[in-house]
Amino acid sequence: MVTVSTYQTMSEAAGKLAEGSMYMAGGTIVMRRVNFGDQSFHNIVRVQQPERGITVDAQGIKIGAGTTMAEILAHRDLDFLHPVARQIGGPAIRNMATIGGNLFARNPNGDMAAALLALNAQVVMADGHASPIETFLLDRGHARGLVASLIVPRVSHGAFKYVKISRVKPRGVAIMTISVLLGGSDPRVVFGNMGPTPLRAKPAERALAGGVNPSAIEAACAVCTQGLSPAEDALASAWYRTEVAPVHLRRLLTNGGLR
Ligand SMILES: Cc1cc2nc3c(=O)[nH]c(=O)nc-3n(C[C@H](O)[C@H](O)[C@H](O)COP(=O)(O)OP(=O)(O)OC[C@H]3O[C@@H](n4cnc5c(N)ncnc54)[C@H](O)[C@@H]3O)c2cc1C
Repeated sequence: MVTVSTYQTMSEAAGKLAEGSMYMAGGTIVMRRVNFGDQSFHNIVRVQQPERGITVDAQGIKIGAGTTMAEILAHRDLDFLHPVARQIGGPAIRNMATIGGNLFARNPNGDMAAALLALNAQVVMADGHASPIETFLLDRGHARGLVASLIVPRVSHGAFKYVKISRVKPRGVAIMTISVLLGGSDPRVVFGNMGPTPLRAKPAERALAGGVNPSAIEAACAVCTQGLSPAEDALASAWYRTEVAPVHLRRLLTNGGLR
């Protein structure tokens, strides 16, 4: 039997999470686990007023963890994230799926988490502690407490590029995603589904650090899979992913990923 405990605020709920409890946001993953008879938890923790909504200030854009993909799509200042949110599930999923829940989604999901890693977002917990998303993702299996919000730095127009490669259009899960942030002295290149968590392709980032030109793009593509450990699943083998990753990165860097 699964019981449900509802609390007023995230910080109240965070204090009540115990062994055998599972926090539920949009529930698109948690409810599937309940329906499949997952016995690893017996109590679902819910919050009446989850951190939700989007605020923009000089620091960046603060997105409450309970904000859905549909809400991201409706917000003008988050237009750079629209290509990511638009390709997550169908309309019903996007109405429920939250940005906070996406941080915990395992392969082949977690498309938004990969994009946020490229954007160098900060993850703010309900107790106020903040950390870069890169450390958060590496440690997420042991994450304690609840995520309250994400702070995403502002992005200049055209600096963020994203492509999701899937076999089934428009709603298939990803064989891989590639998220790239250009325009500064520290370019970021992130692959989703090319490791246990979204991973930065640091050799490719170094190749692009001097600017994006044809020879830098070739150099980045030649080294882009170094240090990654691609997923091996029913969608594609690790070999296939390694072979096609440079092809998709080249397309993304040269013509925005159009195929
Ligand atoms: C049909 C279908 C299609 C999908 N397609 C995609 C897709 O294309 N791309 C993709 O990336 N995902 C996809 N998903 C997976 C999922 O919908 C998303 O990853 C979604 O963002 C998860 O958010 P949620 O709020 O529903 O998470 P929930 O199911 O509520 O929670 C998921 C996990 O995150 C934890 N969690 C949630 N919020 C917090 C928080 N604030 N603090 C701490 N822990 C938290 C929960 O405890 C749980 O372990 C799909 C799912 C379905 C069912």
